[in-house]
Amino acid sequence: MFNSQSSIQKTIASKLLLISLLSFMINKTHLSSNNSFTVSPHIANMKFDGHLSFKNNENESKDFGNRYHLIPSAVLHPKSVSDISSIVKCIFDMGVNSELTVAARGHGHSLKGQAQAYQGVVISMESLRVPEMSFHVGKYPYVDVSGGELWINILHESLKHGLTPKSWTDYLHLTVGGTLSNAGISGQAFLHGPQINNVYQLQVVTGSGEVVTCSDEQNTDLFHAVLGGLGQFGIITQARIALQPAPRKVKWIRALYSEFTLFTKDQEHLISSTNSFDYVEGFVIINRTGLLNNWRSSFNPKDPVQANQFTSEGKILFCLEIAKYFNPEESNNIDQEIDSLLSELSYIKSTLFQSEVSYVDFLDRVHVSEIKLREKGLWEVPHPWLNLLVPSSKIHEFAHEVFGNIFKDTSNGPVLIYPVNKSRWRNGTSLVTPEEDVFYLVAFLSSAIPSSTGKDSLQHILTQNKKILSFCERPHLGIKQYLPHYINQEEWKAHFGTNWEVFFRRKLSYDPLAILAPGQRIFQRANAFSIE
Ligand code: FAD
Repeated sequence: MFNSQSSIQKTIASKLLLISLLSFMINKTHLSSNNSFTVSPHIANMKFDGHLSFKNNENESKDFGNRYHLIPSAVLHPKSVSDISSIVKCIFDMGVNSELTVAARGHGHSLKGQAQAYQGVVISMESLRVPEMSFHVGKYPYVDVSGGELWINILHESLKHGLTPKSWTDYLHLTVGGTLSNAGISGQAFLHGPQINNVYQLQVVTGSGEVVTCSDEQNTDLFHAVLGGLGQFGIITQARIALQPAPRKVKWIRALYSEFTLFTKDQEHLISSTNSFDYVEGFVIINRTGLLNNWRSSFNPKDPVQANQFTSEGKILFCLEIAKYFNPEESNNIDQEIDSLLSELSYIKSTLFQSEVSYVDFLDRVHVSEIKLREKGLWEVPHPWLNLLVPSSKIHEFAHEVFGNIFKDTSNGPVLIYPVNKSRWRNGTSLVTPEEDVFYLVAFLSSAIPSSTGKDSLQHILTQNKKILSFCERPHLGIKQYLPHYINQEEWKAHFGTNWEVFFRRKLSYDPLAILAPGQRIFQRANAFSIE
């Protein structure tokens, strides 16, 4: 299924020449400069199985973050891998005299223009419908999918075979290429690792336009580079995703804690036990009222009388969110198993809420919120999200400062907090994590109201994020950003730390002209424009 070709080798001399060019940082002045250039006639005259569009490309200059709007010169809607490789190759062949860059765009759910290309070419990966999903059953089942495929489609198709991918994101209307370029972390990551752990093979178009198949056995360096590689080393055109037998139902459970120490102790216990839940997450609740009443539309209190008496007003609460998968014929056993697992935990007993939903409804849960928010016009608003990876040994210091002094309420959006255990994750990828084995994903998922000047304004949320980030910069904390965003190369170097050398070396090997994913702002296109 995958088309193998030899991997690229650049000459040492050309690499050395380009090292200096790559070192220049991109800045906002460049992005907003009036330098106007168009796609070369070369490209405009190329023949594709799909098509290039030069007009009405507003969609490709937007993303979920809704804060960066960089207009491309052209958008390629590819119908074949060769469409992608030929346009990248053509731009590569233009050499250092060209300013053109290429951004693969998945579903455009980036936060700060990471899938955009100012006056460059955006490749709309969702148009790439090849290969058709193809399933392989057996001891280690998998599915081959296009890099532009949405996870929700993979879920539906896999279920027809009684199978499912193992590791997810909280929201499934994202593409394979988009999440694999980051990591894909959710409540299953403690068990299976992130999505980048659950891929057997990729087909990639490198920054010189070469089509390369890579895996743990073949072109391993490129495989590892691309996983978590922020789109810097190649465009993922196909992926082989690991599957497992699918459950049909899910027991979905929430319970509250008022003591952070008990909350994290229980979360860490659950992610380290051999017999545990299938999904472990959690979130913080600050200054919210009527919380349990809100849950009642979809969850049932275990003890309705006691739940009625519980008052959350004013307190900082921590909600453990866990799920156990099952099939209906096992339903008696599953209740016993859950009771036994719950008996080891120290949540506030009156706050135990449960729900039973289909596997699809559980995994696609955020889409329900999307539909409601869209109806109210609150989906396409600015999303100044901040995602952090905090070492377990520092999570109390972090919580004390951030939830105690900086972050005053969670009414602008959820704040997720849950631990994962890195010891089960794939080594050698481009993903940057804290050094400790156990660390927490802490995600501030705020939405800003465009016309507001109050606590839900973009300005207010950005100021709060800045305070959090400035606290996180204390070196002894060892905190890393997830879905990172920096504006100059010094900051990127600090982010990668000792991994920077490898990241840089890989860039020189696989995208020496820095053509790919300019919106990440790690490297600047090697050309005269950048050297000022
Ligand atoms: P895009 O935003 O289109 O692209 C992201 C980056 O990847 C860009 O740099 C782009 O150039 C590059 N890229 C895209 N396609 C390819 C490709 N085929 N090959 C190479 N590079 C490519 N993340 C989690 O880990 N866990 C979560 O639970 C989670 N929940 C989310 C919930 C919501 C509502 C949203 C909006 C995002 C969430 N995310 C989560 C973040 C999400 O994983 C990233 O934003 C991801 O990049 C989005 O995928 P996309 O297909 O929209 O990618």
